[in-house]
Order: sequence, then C-alpha cells, then structure tokens
Amino acid sequence: MVLKNPYLKGVYEALEKKSAHEPEFLQAVQEVLESLEPVVERRPELEKWGIIERLVEPERIVQFRVPWVDDSGKVRVNRGYRVEFNSAIGPYKGGLRFHPSVNLSIIKFLGFEQTFKNALTTLPMGGGKGGSDFDPKGKSDAEVMRFCQSFMTELQRHIGPDTDVPAGDIGVGGREIGYLFGQYKRIRNEFTGVLTGKGLNYGGSLARTEATGYGICYFAEEMLKAAGKSFEGQKVVISGSGNVATYANQKAVQLGATVVAMSDSSGYIVDENGIDYRIIQEIKEVKRARIKTYLDYVPTAKYVEGCGGIWNVKCGVALPCATQNELDAAGAKALVANGCFAVVEGANMPCTPEAVAVIQGAGLLFAPAKASNAGGVATSGLEMSQNSLRLSWSFDEVDERLHGIMVNLYHSAAQAAEEYGMKGNLVAGANVAGFLKVADAMLAQGV
Ligand code: GLU
Repeated sequence: MVLKNPYLKGVYEALEKKSAHEPEFLQAVQEVLESLEPVVERRPELEKWGIIERLVEPERIVQFRVPWVDDSGKVRVNRGYRVEFNSAIGPYKGGLRFHPSVNLSIIKFLGFEQTFKNALTTLPMGGGKGGSDFDPKGKSDAEVMRFCQSFMTELQRHIGPDTDVPAGDIGVGGREIGYLFGQYKRIRNEFTGVLTGKGLNYGGSLARTEATGYGICYFAEEMLKAAGKSFEGQKVVISGSGNVATYANQKAVQLGATVVAMSDSSGYIVDENGIDYRIIQEIKEVKRARIKTYLDYVPTAKYVEGCGGIWNVKCGVALPCATQNELDAAGAKALVANGCFAVVEGANMPCTPEAVAVIQGAGLLFAPAKASNAGGVATSGLEMSQNSLRLSWSFDEVDERLHGIMVNLYHSAAQAAEEYGMKGNLVAGANVAGFLKVADAMLAQGV
C-alpha cells in the first residue's frame, strides 16, 4: 500500500531521505502512517501542530562507547544506545537489547513501536529503547557482569525512575538486569525502581517473567473468542525459545493447546506429543545451550537445522516469538496452505509487510505485536507502581491485572479499527488507538 494522504506522504518521503540507512525504522513508520490516513483526514489540527513530524523524530538519542575487559585480560569495545523516543504520556520506558545485530535502525524501530504499545497498555509510560551490539552468547558470567557495569556507568546519567526506565529484551534477562541494577545503585547510591524485570528479592514483580508470554495468549484468547474459536485442542507453533516463547508455551498449554514446534537461531524441534516448557526453560535458562539439546530429553522428537522452515509445521495458531522479520511471505503462504487460522505476533515486528499482506489477504486472524506483546511492558508498569508504593502484590493479583489489561487492549484496538472504517484489522486498530492517546497528550502540551 502507498500513502495517499499528502501530509503523511510528505512526512514519510522526507524521513525516507534522512533515514535511508534505517530500513527497520522506516518499515515500522510506514506501517503506522498507513493506518493513520483516516485519522489525519478527520483531524486537521494534527497537521497544523506537526504531530506526525514530531512523532517520527526521537526526542533524544544517546550513543556511547562501552569498553570492558574479557577473561583473557583483553580490552573489548562495544557500542551502546538509548533512544528516548517519546515522553508525552510518561517517562521513557522500554527494554535493552544485547545482540550483535543491534544498530541505530533497530533501536529506533523498537523505540517507535514501544511508544504506541505503551500507550495501549493504558499505563502512564512513554516510549524508549536501548541496547548494544554486545553478544552475551558464549561469554562467561564475569564477562557479562563487566560489560553490564561498563554499559551502566554511562547509561546511569541518562535514566531515572521518573525519567527513563529500561528493562530487558533479547539478550537481557534476569542476570543482566541484576548486574545493571547493582551498578546503578553503586554509582548513584539510590535504591529505586529505575529498571524493571528485577529479581523478586530486590524490587521485582511476581509474574513479570511470565508476563509477555501470558499476555500474548490472553490477547489471542480474546481475539479467538470474538471469532468463535479458542486454543482448546489446537496445535500451536512457537518460534523462539527465550522468555517470550517459553511462557507463551506454558499459557497456550494451560488453555488447552499442544505446542508442537519451537526454535532457536540454529534450528527447530518438532514434537507432536507436545513440548514441555520446563524442558525449554532448563535448556535455555539453566544450561544456556542450543535447542537441539531437546533430543537428549525427548529422543523421539525431530530436529531440523535452520530456523526458517518452522512455518511448514502444520498448526492452527502460529506465534512468532523470536525476532523482527523472521516470518516472510513464503512462511506466511506455508501457514495458510496448512490450514493455520491465526497468527499472533510475540516478538516485535516478526512478520514482514509482505507476510502480513498474505496473512490478512487469506482472511486469517492477525494480531500485531504492539498490541499482542504489550503484556510484558504492562507488567513492567505494574512493577513501577509497586516500587512507588513500596509494596508487592501477589502473583495472582498481578496476573489478574495483566489479564484485564490484555482483554481491554484487544477491545480498544478492535473498536478503533471499526470507528475508522477498518473493521477487523487489528494492525490499523492498534496503531490508531495508540496514536490517539499519544497525539492528544502532545497537542495538550504544546510544542
Ligand atoms: N522489551 C519488552 C518490549 O518489547 C519489554 C519492555 C519493558 O518492560 O520495558 O515491550
């Protein structure tokens, strides 16, 4: 689809020139602007006040050197980023990603998406994202610790519980958050809720670890219900085997499904008897090994080298939970051909625009990440609330709030789509609902 509205078209073309080397960022912006055409037509003040131009430009970008010493005594240097994208509705909030593919384009796309996602949670959080091209894979605990300490030595001057609150993302889990938090406290002498995803004995929230995966299934359940379907008796394929994929597996199984395939960047496993999330958790979180190790636990399972083929595994529901642009048009066609009826994004922007066109064109149900994976950051918001109140809620209390947030989120996206003449299109609905909240706050606060 091409942009027809002259205002949106103009903003996008100008951005395309400035950000020519940022393909992921442009991809994320284009998708949102396409959804906003009917909104901009109804609301001329958006153009007058330059809302779209302002939205696509991060408020602040910090890029920094991260020097650290490896176990052999050699000095290594990585690049660190924090993109503070939008603070219209609250302090910047969003994860840190440590992965060799990290660059400014990827952090900007994630920060841009985060702005709308956070708005959709209904909690007061702006959008931000950060990370580094550091690869934690194959590093010792001591090396990861020294890297995290060096990263935070710079980052600490830019963040704070009322300014910018980072959390985890790919490559940043409980271990990394612990080292980062320790360094913040050491330098600032402040014990505050400056990070979320913290350990339970130092300010973390129960159910935060499970929240993204659970939230995906709560959202999916509501979407399926509206179409007269459910997880009950369905085969589910989940790409990835990190935090998001693991707990999506647990919740999908609790809701009556069988998870038949999961993957990592090396390959995928197929087990028609159902993959137990606890085995994946042990392989990935305890052993920090490859998913192929699953065969040691279940010798009857199948392992296939290379992760892209996972979409050929027959299923009713597909949950791409690995990384951006992992599901392309060929993968989408394979899902359609095998009778899949719902694709729910778990990772951020895992489907290419071509894949989304195939999925929606074939009439499958489709949930975009900024709605369906918002449960993680929503529960981060609940962690911030508990930190401010200096108390902690029970697992069930947090889980219940998370469930309520995801159910509401589905309905606000579905309703916005209908209101703006795009009924059934949750991509458009999520973009419009998230945008309106941020845009109205920006209008109220002036330039
Ligand atoms: N990285 C997660 C996301 O993409 C969570 C961010 C957070 O909890 O701040 O939404």
